[in-house]
Amino acid sequence: MSLIVQKFGGTSVATVERIEAVAEKIIGFRQQGHDVVVVVSAMSGETNRLISLANEVQKQPTARELDVLVSTGEQVTTALLCMALHERQHKAKSYNGSQVRILTDDAHTKARIQKIDDEHIHSDLRDGCVVVVAGFQGVDEQGNITTLGRGGSDTTAVALAAALKADECQIYTDVDGVYTTDPRVVDGARRLDRITFEEMLEMASQGSKVLQIRSVEFAGKYKVPLRVLSSFVDGPGTLITLEDDHTMEAPIVSGIAFNRDEAKLTILGVPDQPGVAAKVLGAISDENIEVDVIVQNIAEDKTTDLTFTVHRNDMVQAESTLRQVSEELGAREVKTDDKIAKISIVGVGMRSHAGIASRMFSTLADLSINIQLITTSEIKISVVVEEKYLELAVRGLHSAFDLEGAP
Ligand code: ADP
Ligand code: ASP
Ligand code: MG
Repeated sequence: MSLIVQKFGGTSVATVERIEAVAEKIIGFRQQGHDVVVVVSAMSGETNRLISLANEVQKQPTARELDVLVSTGEQVTTALLCMALHERQHKAKSYNGSQVRILTDDAHTKARIQKIDDEHIHSDLRDGCVVVVAGFQGVDEQGNITTLGRGGSDTTAVALAAALKADECQIYTDVDGVYTTDPRVVDGARRLDRITFEEMLEMASQGSKVLQIRSVEFAGKYKVPLRVLSSFVDGPGTLITLEDDHTMEAPIVSGIAFNRDEAKLTILGVPDQPGVAAKVLGAISDENIEVDVIVQNIAEDKTTDLTFTVHRNDMVQAESTLRQVSEELGAREVKTDDKIAKISIVGVGMRSHAGIASRMFSTLADLSINIQLITTSEIKISVVVEEKYLELAVRGLHSAFDLEGAP
């Protein structure tokens, strides 16, 4: 007998019928003798609906109240799922984040889990109950409701699995595993049987929203066996593994991630002197804006150009800060562009292979796609291109790195 934490995402609990199907699935696991703790998301579309309501009422909704509002979505599905289990004569009990006591910091809308009390859960499990926990939410030291950022139910599930020392954490979603790239964009995308934590973390960080980044960090840190599966069709899914399997030759590139969430800002003709980058980027970080790609280049006339990317939602604020800094520094010009996309190829095999970057760049050149920015890490190469070329570029790279067909 083992303890399994199962998370069901928004599409898996989108209707009463689907919630009933989830209940049947859980009963199947109970009948095999497993203890089951379930984490649910809100019904699909519900979190977006609640956020739009907030935006109708207040230009920049107060973060504390936004958390009170959006956390309601998950509470609905916990209760409905328990009722579906009761209807089928199975014991089940729902908990919201503060009832479990999923303690977080007080960073509303992007809180981090600090500690989980497992007392109630263990005693309910001993009692033969299925425990159903609301994903995405917690409570801070002062008792305020907090939420963990979009996609945060994944993190609730993995954190619970770590706290309970579960045998496996299963993330049920609307695709049957992690693919070489988003299967909604590339028809030839292929399901991976396994992917390492490290690769999954890069994929998630670079835009593959199949798992929230924090959930992968947690799973890697606490060595939680993690699997992504479909709620709708049976299958092995994808196992996220430690990189200890030396029997397999790692593919050079395991997957391609992309995102359209960023915008690019450039400050041109800054008189070149020590402290310029610190001044520009310091001003941006003082506004609590996260910077992603940064490129600086010195021109022959002793001025420097600095380009960086931020989340699109932060572009207007970042631009106004940059214009102020530009005046103080006597820079020539500030430019912005939000029609960009970032594409990343990811693979642990890159560590031991040369020529990957040039293959990536020549593939894009053959497609006449201009590369605007480049960044690399040990297991990833990212490029920023014009947004309209995103799909063409991802498809081209997917076949250039032989990601289609059999593994
Ligand atoms: P849930 O509501 O179950 O949490 P999400 O929408 O958050 O589901 O995540 C599943 C989606 O992630 C898929 O429908 C798919 O479009 C997208 N996705 C992006 N990249 C990948 C990838 N590499 N493999 C699988 N799915 C991906
Ligand atoms: N309901 C939340 C969201 O839509 C959390 C989640 O589904 O993981 O982001
Ligand atoms: Mg999700």
